Amino acid sequence: MNNKAFYLETFGCQMNVVDSERIVELLGGIGYRQVDEPDQASLILLNTCAVRDKAVRKAYGHLGRFKPLKERNPQMILGMGGCIAQQEGKQLLKEFPYLDLVFGTHNVHRLPELVQQVADTRVRCEETEFLDRETRLQLFPSRTGKEAFTRFVTVMQGCDNFCSYCVVPYVRGREISRPSGEILDEIRELAEQGVREVTLIGQNVNSYGTKEKEISFSALLEQVNAIVGIDRIRFTTSHPKDLSDELIGCFGRLDKLCKHLHLPVQCGSDELLKAMNRGYTRERYLNIVARLRQVCPDIRLSSDIIVGFPGETEDNFAATMSLLEQVRYAEIYSFIYSPRSGTAAADIKDDTPAKVKQERFERMLTLQQEISRQIWEADVGTVQEVLVEGESKMGEGQLFGRSTWNRIVNFSGPAELAGRLVSVRISKSFRNSLLGELLEYC
Ligand code: SF4
Repeated sequence: MNNKAFYLETFGCQMNVVDSERIVELLGGIGYRQVDEPDQASLILLNTCAVRDKAVRKAYGHLGRFKPLKERNPQMILGMGGCIAQQEGKQLLKEFPYLDLVFGTHNVHRLPELVQQVADTRVRCEETEFLDRETRLQLFPSRTGKEAFTRFVTVMQGCDNFCSYCVVPYVRGREISRPSGEILDEIRELAEQGVREVTLIGQNVNSYGTKEKEISFSALLEQVNAIVGIDRIRFTTSHPKDLSDELIGCFGRLDKLCKHLHLPVQCGSDELLKAMNRGYTRERYLNIVARLRQVCPDIRLSSDIIVGFPGETEDNFAATMSLLEQVRYAEIYSFIYSPRSGTAAADIKDDTPAKVKQERFERMLTLQQEISRQIWEADVGTVQEVLVEGESKMGEGQLFGRSTWNRIVNFSGPAELAGRLVSVRISKSFRNSLLGELLEYC
């Protein structure tokens, strides 16, 4: 076993992906190299997600899997970070005697110091203190330094919305936006390093800069659009209540902005939207969708849907089903509601039997799978612009990239096309990807 080798598992959203990349950089700075197998590591870290019960159970399950390794090698350091760590704090050390280190969402930057401290003293430690605004502003993860053609760029963190089912405001803290100058400098630097596509990320990018009196998010997109070398821009996550007309207009105006928007609706019933504290009605949401399609007729949408929110009636559920039929999302990410402790919804009486929730969930999946299938089948025969990301998992001579609609496209072509925009004629549609033939490139 290497003395300074770490194994890292990441759960959850893009914010955790970005934090994990920061962890890799920081640990590299103190001489650790990343390994693919936990039994080769002297440090094992889990970067966790607390948004849903399933993600929490998964993280605990993985933690348990490392217990025998720790027993065999007591010198090994086992750590947990991310949203579960933030939420549970010291309690984790009590419950898992083999866990050495707990670090919260605001403490990633201190990881090298904390790891060193545990290694030197063998005293287990927990650091989950929330930082003040000023300190957080200094600590936005910078994303330069890793070779890739597509990158996430953090523009804001935290959330002020307090949707009644969600732990994010409690485990990530309040909203804070990064200065636009710093974001633009980073993207220029990424472009110089060969990055072609950036995804601007935050818990609710649509409210970017509001507190700081920064430029609006649409103005930020305009400026990113002007950066030479960047060919594509995406952003996520978007709260429908904060999607301004100006921002909607960007989809018609900005040539580099991909024609795909993840716009989580959560459900189609006004009664439940209110109980979820989402801040919009079904009608307002549908109006936003109509305006998006007016400015960009071929935009594709995706959404998150919660089934079985406390008190969901058959009528409420029918409203969600009819919304899916009306909007025709290309894709949805759906979940059966699970109460998160500390959130407002956890106190709402939930009398819908689990069997009924499961049955609704399956009905919804069947409907959505058919809608998605129809949308993707219609891609066969079309020519799509693809940003080539590298060799495909499909094997030798195969490349992969993404269409403007964020669909993976596999095709045969020379490896030197990586990082370039090419035209591909789609020949086949699968559930998770498309297959095509390379037409031309310049
Ligand atoms: S907008 Fe709502 S669902 Fe999204 S992170 Fe904030 S509280 Fe959670």
